[in-house]
Amino acid sequence: MDVRDDGRTGVRPVPDPPGPVLRVSQVLGPVTALGPGRRLGVWVQGCPLACAGCMSRQTWDPRGGHDVAVERLVRLWRRGLAEGYDGLTVSGGEPLEQPTALAALLDAADRMRLAEGRADADLLVYTGWEDAEIAASPEATAVLGRADAVITGRYRVGEPTALVWRGSANQRLIPRTPLGRRRYGPHLRRTADRPELQVRVTDGAVHIVGVPRPGELSALERDLAARGVTFRENTWRP
Ligand code: SF4
Repeated sequence: MDVRDDGRTGVRPVPDPPGPVLRVSQVLGPVTALGPGRRLGVWVQGCPLACAGCMSRQTWDPRGGHDVAVERLVRLWRRGLAEGYDGLTVSGGEPLEQPTALAALLDAADRMRLAEGRADADLLVYTGWEDAEIAASPEATAVLGRADAVITGRYRVGEPTALVWRGSANQRLIPRTPLGRRRYGPHLRRTADRPELQVRVTDGAVHIVGVPRPGELSALERDLAARGVTFRENTWRP
């Protein structure tokens, strides 16, 4: 099992207990560039939407990544809450490709935040599904109804935006609960001069967390190359 819980403990071969399982690309914390505050970030594995310009191509193949018990993810969430994390962000990949496990994760994360006296910690889910696609699917609607806020819509490389936490101007940030409205309401139209990116280095891999604008990853690559740092492979080019 290869779950990086916070980049400090690295690989820990722990057998998973029975129960719902999520196919996961990676887990990182604290994540500071995908939602407000310090967060646990879960990137699911598998996405059939194939947006041009996607920076997470490594998450497309549903056979990639690892099976991780929801119960184990919730233990990481509990630890994050104890460390003062402000929320959980589920991204991908496409979370709605795994609706049953996603619902189990959100339900368990909700129960855990209440049990830990952290009802203020929010649940945010990214999906590439458009609002009309979600509305046409009772299952997707029910699953996303468990989140405090969702960010919806395909990534469109030709529609850059300065809106925080969104990759293209068409994507919508939608608060869904009173907590979501309190926490995300002030950010619905908030823009940033520069994207809020976070760089994490774990096990020899550089993780760029956040939503870069078109051309910025290539510029970063050129800048690092000028300093003698080159990538053997990256996830934002075919
Ligand atoms: S941007 Fe998101 S929805 Fe689009 S292909 Fe990449 S992972 Fe899938």
